[in-house]
Amino acid sequence: MFWRRNWEDEISGSEESPFLECRHLLFEEEADYPICPSCGKLIKKNLPQNSVDRSRLFLICQKVKRVWSVKIGIASTLLILILSYLLPQLIGGWFLWTGNYGFSRFIPSSSHNPTLFSVTLFGYIPLFIFFVARERVKRFFTFSLGIEHFHKILYSWPVQLTLFIFIIILLSIYVPKFYEMEGESLIAKQIQLTPAQHVKGVELFVFVNMLCNWIVAGLLVIHQLIDRRRTWWLKEANEAYLAGGC
Ligand SMILES: [Zn+2]
Repeated sequence: MFWRRNWEDEISGSEESPFLECRHLLFEEEADYPICPSCGKLIKKNLPQNSVDRSRLFLICQKVKRVWSVKIGIASTLLILILSYLLPQLIGGWFLWTGNYGFSRFIPSSSHNPTLFSVTLFGYIPLFIFFVARERVKRFFTFSLGIEHFHKILYSWPVQLTLFIFIIILLSIYVPKFYEMEGESLIAKQIQLTPAQHVKGVELFVFVNMLCNWIVAGLLVIHQLIDRRRTWWLKEANEAYLAGGC
């Protein structure tokens, strides 16, 4: 049949997958799933043998792939990474352009200064460590560390929400101090600033960096919600198949 080619192309998953390929890690209750709940690809060893079940599975796959949270895949992670890189420049540039601060860029070009992004990154790091991982990476860590029984608790929404609030509190206590220190030394390099302008410049520097952190934190929450939804849909597709539906 015309679709047979694509269908069989999608079947990846020898036991020795390279690092970047999904290993289709399944929990006990998912042992019979033919569709991987983290990458959405087919799992070779769980594929049905008879053609009726095969075409039923094919239809379910087609249906679930139309769901937008399933479609998005890795694009949301890439989008967040690109935005986190561009935000400090864009927001900083906009404030300096619209306000009267006595200088036009935080970091004078043609000097051996760090880039604005490398300063902002300090606050991003804890956010990314805890909230950028998608289902595939989460499962990879759970299975590597052998903590399968804690996976559901660890990634349940109350635990994740508590962790998020905890990180946000830590960020708002410690990170502004770091940005202030960096801002002081960077803005001191601007020539001909009055002391008042200097203070105002440092305040803006801290504000811009913190604003980027809050925006990225918000984006990561959306990213996590989409990924949860995606995993939920993929699991639903498997359940529908195993229950004999289509
Ligand atoms: Zn997979």
